[in-house]
Amino acid sequence: MFNRTKIVATIGPASSSKEVLRDLINAGVDVCRLNFSHGAYDDHAKVVSTIHELNVELDTHVAILVDLQGPKLRIGEVEENTVLEEGKEIEFTTEKCIGNASKVYITYQEFPQDVKKGERIMVDDGKLLLEIISTDGVKKVIARVVQGGQLSSKKGVNLPNTAISLPCLTEKDLSDLKFALEQNVQWIGLSFVRSATDIIELKHLIRQQGEKSPRIIAKIEKPEAISDIDDIIKEADGLMVARGDLGVEIPMQNVPLLQKMIVKKCLQASKPVIIATQMMESMISCSTPTRAEVSDVANAVMDGTDAVMLSGETSVGKFPVRVVETMQKIITVIENDEDIYYKHFLSCSKDPRRYISDHICSNACTMAQQVNAKAIITLTHSGYTALMLSSKRPKAPIFVFTDNRSLVSKLSLVWGIRGFYYNRQISTDHTIDDIKYMLKKKGYINEGDLVIFIASVPMTEKGKTNMLKLSHA
Ligand code: PEP
Repeated sequence: MFNRTKIVATIGPASSSKEVLRDLINAGVDVCRLNFSHGAYDDHAKVVSTIHELNVELDTHVAILVDLQGPKLRIGEVEENTVLEEGKEIEFTTEKCIGNASKVYITYQEFPQDVKKGERIMVDDGKLLLEIISTDGVKKVIARVVQGGQLSSKKGVNLPNTAISLPCLTEKDLSDLKFALEQNVQWIGLSFVRSATDIIELKHLIRQQGEKSPRIIAKIEKPEAISDIDDIIKEADGLMVARGDLGVEIPMQNVPLLQKMIVKKCLQASKPVIIATQMMESMISCSTPTRAEVSDVANAVMDGTDAVMLSGETSVGKFPVRVVETMQKIITVIENDEDIYYKHFLSCSKDPRRYISDHICSNACTMAQQVNAKAIITLTHSGYTALMLSSKRPKAPIFVFTDNRSLVSKLSLVWGIRGFYYNRQISTDHTIDDIKYMLKKKGYINEGDLVIFIASVPMTEKGKTNMLKLSHA
């Protein structure tokens, strides 16, 4: 059988060849992430078309997640061997220059207007820490080095105490989005989301694509996003706990509890959630992970995350395929433990559901548990019942049949689901028999297994799941 928890792999120079991509998919990658902070359009387009080819060759539905950079702040070029010494002062300027230990360019033009004395500047994932002494409000900010070290070109800047006035979608994001829409990708990740309004704005820009519109992942990496988390979950189609920047913007010891809180809320809202960054970081250069990394992946799976994500490990690392194989083995062992299933259903079921289909999904999962069903099968157009079933974390695998071709790949990100394109217009009874036959032929179920089937009756009615059938395969 297949793993329920999905794997997202970031594609980069170490993994963009057809051979490595094929090996990654065979090793268990469900979603390929293209990080638009790096790479040229031509390279991204080549990866997209290779994934399409491999999906046909391997009969898979690997999805593509385009990750928009958002208002990521950076310093400019700096001279080699620039070292910031504790206690020394440095000027941040909005005028381009080659930086050194006394002056450095910052890409954020409103920086002098937005910051205040006493606020912190963190550079290079928080390795360097500075405190603002003064600003001229126009183009110059003076800061004192609190924690020094090597400063290299184009490193990221985080301002955890500053209300940044930049829009969530920069000009670069708008052009990257246009490109991503042309490529028909399934998911768009929005970085540095601060409020639900950021998601609404992006939705307006992509909804004209109809049912092909990519779905939106809100990357949670700002303290403001934590404050607006319920509304963000409501507006987004999924979330990513982007622990890299989140652990710079808030004290990193607070990240584990926030991770658990976000996973739980996403389960309650039936929205997929990804745990990202440094999951197997040491495998960028080592052939085995640390025991702590194994525990980190295992704990995310036990918490019930939909997907675990690899970044540098697969994009620039020395062992892109091996890291996926290793992650897959950890997932398998944890998922073989009975305790991880269904308990989420119990903790999430307090949330009152509104529709008939919600009750059908709940009862399908309860019944699957009671009778030890080998499959829960749903027919869906929008994917609503697929997400609802998945959020109960049933032990029985969920097979989703849909006439919405783009949904099949979108669901590759979602826990426990295998999606299939299906558009035969036949009666309910014939459809059930037809689908059971297909699943038996593919080896997913065996003759005599108990399976649960949910759908709308009449079948032509979309969005009205009102039927549950328990029968033998
Ligand atoms: C993160 O910060 O954890 C993250 C996933 O974002 P990025 O890789 O774009 O920095």
